[in-house]
Amino acid sequence: MSVLVVGSVAYDTVHTASESRENALGGSATYFSIACRYFNEVSLVAVVGSDFKNDDRDLFNSQHIDVSGLESALGDTFRWGGEYELDSNRRKSLFTDLNVFADFSPNLLPNHQNTDYLFLANIDPILQLNVIKKMERRPKIIALDSMDFWINGSLDNLIETIQKVDILFLDETEIRLLSREYNLINAIKKIHSMGPHTIVAKKGEYGVTVFQNDDAFVVPAKILPKVTDPTGAGDAFAGGFMGALSAIEDISTTGLKHATLIGAVMGSFAVESFSVDRLKNLSQDEINSRAAEIIKLSNIKTPLQTKFRRF
Ligand code: AMP
Repeated sequence: MSVLVVGSVAYDTVHTASESRENALGGSATYFSIACRYFNEVSLVAVVGSDFKNDDRDLFNSQHIDVSGLESALGDTFRWGGEYELDSNRRKSLFTDLNVFADFSPNLLPNHQNTDYLFLANIDPILQLNVIKKMERRPKIIALDSMDFWINGSLDNLIETIQKVDILFLDETEIRLLSREYNLINAIKKIHSMGPHTIVAKKGEYGVTVFQNDDAFVVPAKILPKVTDPTGAGDAFAGGFMGALSAIEDISTTGLKHATLIGAVMGSFAVESFSVDRLKNLSQDEINSRAAEIIKLSNIKTPLQTKFRRF
């Protein structure tokens, strides 16, 4: 069963504490689809402008990503600029130029309308809702990612869209912003009541907590000696997650745990370079051994018995 992603394809300008990169290929759907394609067929629906480079279109083809839904419009490709602090969990958006995205209305081809796994990557919630409405039948899983830009600017539309979604990917700050609750447990309760049965709370280098109805589990992030550019970690995480979930077709807790592990693996590769430089060239061995490293990190089973103080 294949995966459909609707999101942004962008040129990003990123400043980290030590380096900068201008107009690098980015966008939520870009990171997602490249991470996802290792595990399943993936189709991308997005829009780019007349300045979009042939090399970048070729990259999607060489990654075996279906780009029949990648429209080309008159104008400039979406551009985003961001700056990270030394603590790479903290960033601020410097600019968000929607450009061709401002007038985009996703047009789903017939083969896209029957997809079972739909990922609504970070774009305008009105577009996300339109995509759900354009599906011929309800996908098995609808997942959604968003960010402060839309939570602050388009809250009612976002909540209306979230009501139709199974899995929500947000970072801790976004969870608090969306729910207007500081306490994470209260915030999760409030978001569950909006619709999604599963909420993936991303905590950057500290990993993720997945809340499924009344249950929760944690998967740590790989501890890396150097984070080159955190951009796209969340989207690569979601790409690995949805790719793995759709490939095993198991949406029980076991399936979700596996998907979360693969998400953590792909997120960790995304931050090892600017743009998709590292993400696009991975071997199965590299993916498997990183998964094993993360499993080892979280394996706290011990043969020792707890010794209690006698008094
Ligand atoms: P992440 O680091 O996973 O949150 O994703 C960063 C990517 O999201 C960048 O490549 C940006 O091009 C893209 N992006 C940033 N802001 C927006 C936005 N408002 N709408 C859609 N995509 C965005």
